[in-house]
Amino acid sequence: MIKIEQYKLLMKKIMCSLIGIAFIFSVTAQDSISIKQAESNVKTLSILWQQHAAEYRALCYQAFNLAALRLSEAVKEKKNGDQLAIITDLDETILDNSYSEAKLIKEGKSYTPASWKEWTNKSAATGVPGAAEFLQNAKQKGVSVFYISNRDTSDRQSTLRNLQNLHLPDADLTHMLFRTNTSSKESRRITVMDKYKVIMLLGDNLGDFMEVFDGKNTAVRKTETDKVQNEWGRKFIVLPNPVYGEWENALYDYDRTLTPVQKDAKRKQKLIAY
Ligand SMILES: [Mg+2]
Repeated sequence: MIKIEQYKLLMKKIMCSLIGIAFIFSVTAQDSISIKQAESNVKTLSILWQQHAAEYRALCYQAFNLAALRLSEAVKEKKNGDQLAIITDLDETILDNSYSEAKLIKEGKSYTPASWKEWTNKSAATGVPGAAEFLQNAKQKGVSVFYISNRDTSDRQSTLRNLQNLHLPDADLTHMLFRTNTSSKESRRITVMDKYKVIMLLGDNLGDFMEVFDGKNTAVRKTETDKVQNEWGRKFIVLPNPVYGEWENALYDYDRTLTPVQKDAKRKQKLIAY
């Protein structure tokens, strides 16, 4: 009789433990789903802003209108023998790639080098508002355009087709300096500066302008930005990109091993409240 009671008690304990474990798993699964959803939502709003907010277009036009003004000033100040050039980034400065990220979100997938390759092979990026007109204007004024991009060199042909489709000037391989062994653009900028007087740099990422921003944390990025306050809107023309970039990598302290849960925690940790 005692043995039966003990057996019943043991079974009860086992059942309670199993229910507890099942509950924990269920909560954890729900958490990971909600975190995954949150990750997706973070990107979704940014992409929607890029694709649908007229404010985004207005900011792009504002950047290129200002660039056109600086271009005219530089051309007026040109001295005999000066060979003028503009250095520009491509992605989210001249080319709009939001379609690639939008497709990933719709399919519940994450960015991979293969997903990016699938997109670039299509040569289907559209022009950032105002970009083509500005670059064509520069070329008409006798200014060369160099495209310094961190796209892989294996993307050069597909990107060239894309630039040609958009009727961009200097769309040829000699004007396209793509990433080889380093993501820093400094050595490629120097290559251009050795032969040309660079009057302007355009980009959506601070590494498009100066090496000093490469790999720096958010505080240093701000300090270095302040140090060259007068260059923004003059020699440096910045385009808006809320979707991705070093600004986001800096938030995560450039730790590419973080899980979505850890990224979410980092984001919340970095929020500045009153
Ligand atoms: Mg870019």
